[in-house]
Amino acid sequence: MLNKFPIKILIVIFVILATGVDAYGFGSRPPRQRKIIRVAVVRSKPQITLTLEGCYEIYALGTDMKILSGSRLKKTVINSTAEGLKINDEDFKIYGIKILIDKDGAIFVNGRSFRGHVDIIRETDLTLLVVNHIDIEDYLFGVLQCEVPFRWPYPVLKVQAIAARTYALYQSQVNRKKDYDVTNDTFSQVYGGAGKERYRARKAVIKTQSIVLTYNGKIFPTYYHATCGGHTEDACELWNIDLPPLKGVECSFCKKSPHYDWKSQMAIKEIEEKLTVGGYKVSQILDIVPLKRDRSKRIRDLKILYKGGSIKIGANKFRLLLGSRYIRSTNFAVKVKGEKAFFKGYGWGHGVGLCQWGAYFMSKKGYKAGEILKYYYPHAEIKNFFEINHVETK
Ligand SMILES: [Zn+2]
Repeated sequence: MLNKFPIKILIVIFVILATGVDAYGFGSRPPRQRKIIRVAVVRSKPQITLTLEGCYEIYALGTDMKILSGSRLKKTVINSTAEGLKINDEDFKIYGIKILIDKDGAIFVNGRSFRGHVDIIRETDLTLLVVNHIDIEDYLFGVLQCEVPFRWPYPVLKVQAIAARTYALYQSQVNRKKDYDVTNDTFSQVYGGAGKERYRARKAVIKTQSIVLTYNGKIFPTYYHATCGGHTEDACELWNIDLPPLKGVECSFCKKSPHYDWKSQMAIKEIEEKLTVGGYKVSQILDIVPLKRDRSKRIRDLKILYKGGSIKIGANKFRLLLGSRYIRSTNFAVKVKGEKAFFKGYGWGHGVGLCQWGAYFMSKKGYKAGEILKYYYPHAEIKNFFEINHVETK
């Protein structure tokens, strides 16, 4: 056994050298241009902890001034102060730091590990913002497994990889002047290790590397949602985005989705409280009446009748105030009975763009990734991001 051990190591080294297996151990990635995306991984916290494993350098943000460096940084507390940042007990009159680490090193923020490099910024409200700068493809490895089950058919994983890539790159274009491009509340799962179960999601990202959707030569916000419930939504109805690929299509594919229809109920008192928190002062609700539905049967506005008057509220606003776990879509019927309101609806999510469960059943019927994308994003084209001339890369 003892003799065999070094041989195993030699074999591993040989395989790495011969095949270019990357640090993930999931096969080499084709040569590519890099595109960094800025992900807000911590927001609005007065204090964070930082640990650095590997050779590091810390600079005052936006300058060449190196304030710390070394081969390892033990758990360090960083506080926001009126003057700048306090790192352990030392005060720095700076508004942020940039942390660079060796290729093989790791940055831990609040115990979560990140690749790439990390900026810690003191915001004007004296809270801390942590932004991870990471290559888009590495970012997608983590996003994908959060968005769709890794056991889903391979074409759906590819569809999701392309939609998520396009969406993130679009956000990075529109948010160029902000401190970050995207937020991700489930980001902790991105670097949670390279378990076997993630192989398929990784493969889908690698196989679709740099592939995006465009309309008129430009990437667009490729929204997606769990289940449309019969017809996807026109983005115009929600966000004032008027684009042919986001106009909404009929979808009979998601009928067998576990989220195709839903029921819920809520106490009138709770609805009143939630609406009041949102700035709609109502008490003693008598009825909730859908006013107008759009082409996809989703409600645009609701009238809430209460003792003493009535108010009009956008259905999406209503849904978000009550909680999207209870009101899963704006395609619903509602009845007020006694102390409660009873809801019965179709679909889960905002309904714009790709219907994920529809895509699942399309692939079960033999549709390929490209066909699924063109179905849910009509008139869109599939392109390589780096071949779109107008795009400036960061
Ligand atoms: Zn659908």
